[in-house]
Amino acid sequence: MIPSILPTYNRAPLNFVKGEGCWLTEADGRRFLDLGSGIAVTLLGHAHPALVDALTKQANALWHVSNLYQIPGQQALADQLVDATFADTVFFTNSGTEACELAIKMARKYWYEKGEADRIEILAFEGCFHGRSTAAIAASGAEKMVQGFGPVLPGFTQLPFGDHEALRAAVTDKTAAIMIEPVQGEGGIMPLPDACLKGLRDVCDETGALLIADEVQCGMGRTGKLFAHEWAGITPDIMMVAKGIGGGFPLGAVLATENAASGMVAGTHGSTYGGNPLAMSVGNAVMNIVTEDAFLAEVNRKAGALRQKLESLIAEHPDVFETVRGSGLMLGIKCKATNIDVVNAGYEAGVITVPAADNVIRLLPALTITDDDISEALTRLDKAARLVKST
Ligand SMILES: *Cc1c(COP(=O)(O)O)cnc(C)c1O
Repeated sequence: MIPSILPTYNRAPLNFVKGEGCWLTEADGRRFLDLGSGIAVTLLGHAHPALVDALTKQANALWHVSNLYQIPGQQALADQLVDATFADTVFFTNSGTEACELAIKMARKYWYEKGEADRIEILAFEGCFHGRSTAAIAASGAEKMVQGFGPVLPGFTQLPFGDHEALRAAVTDKTAAIMIEPVQGEGGIMPLPDACLKGLRDVCDETGALLIADEVQCGMGRTGKLFAHEWAGITPDIMMVAKGIGGGFPLGAVLATENAASGMVAGTHGSTYGGNPLAMSVGNAVMNIVTEDAFLAEVNRKAGALRQKLESLIAEHPDVFETVRGSGLMLGIKCKATNIDVVNAGYEAGVITVPAADNVIRLLPALTITDDDISEALTRLDKAARLVKST
């Protein structure tokens, strides 16, 4: 008999009932150090007082009105995002997938309005992940994502990640946009070298194709810059944001330049919940904190400390771990043992990590992780490695 919850997930037998900072409490009382943050979502840890306060205040005032009316929190958050980035304009969604949908629509509409209605091709990359809608799975192109869900939406091509020659050869006068995660998340924490991102920008500048950065996982300070593309000194035309921006409340956004957004006039797109007052209260509180002076410097300092400690851990357990890669507090450990076994051993050792492709475990701790938590993380990861070896 089918379970009452549609069985699309493989869930661990863990039932968390409370969270505080980087710590989760299981129903049986066990405490876990959370290095997964619900897949890069609880950006400022669990139950951050400023976020709880903002959400509670808003919950007591007004939950929802729809986008038929003014929403002051949207104006405030859009202004914050425009001030802090390349973007001139922002649309709010509830998720990364919805941000992906709009990014694709925006790019195609841009060319349609320019009189090039057949310029619809989106170039994406092998190993990419942009969400689970019919368009987002077509962008990924991966067999396990699209199989059985045909017809696959046309207009998407996947290129090898970081192969500049292949990219140049693939861009044609039908290319509407190039969509890239500056650091692939689900694909196994694969940072695109800065030179490659610059190269992508150059190709876009030469051909007019729009550059879409998917910063759903790598954005919002996770790599030590507010957005990961900043490391390469370039700007995209369109950017997808979600996960961390809501700190645990469902929230996403599409940021764009005035030029890229020029086709999106009244009536061309919408969302019932997108930019709802509850989400805006939390989003503004998250942005207030992430844009504080010295916040990102602290992220970089802690990221350096964590990475150094991980290098030693890997050296001590060469039969379990291979290498560490990634950027800032978006780290992947390529495993020698099976990554799922390491994640499961972590559960036994009281530390939460997240598996990814390429036999990687991901460490995506809250950006507010403390130095003590980092030390404890290493103790518990060491214990997990020993457990893997003993089985
Ligand atoms: C998680 C993710 C998405 C999809 O976001 P949802 O909120 O799950 O719809 C898109 N792109 C990237 C890079 C992601 O990590």
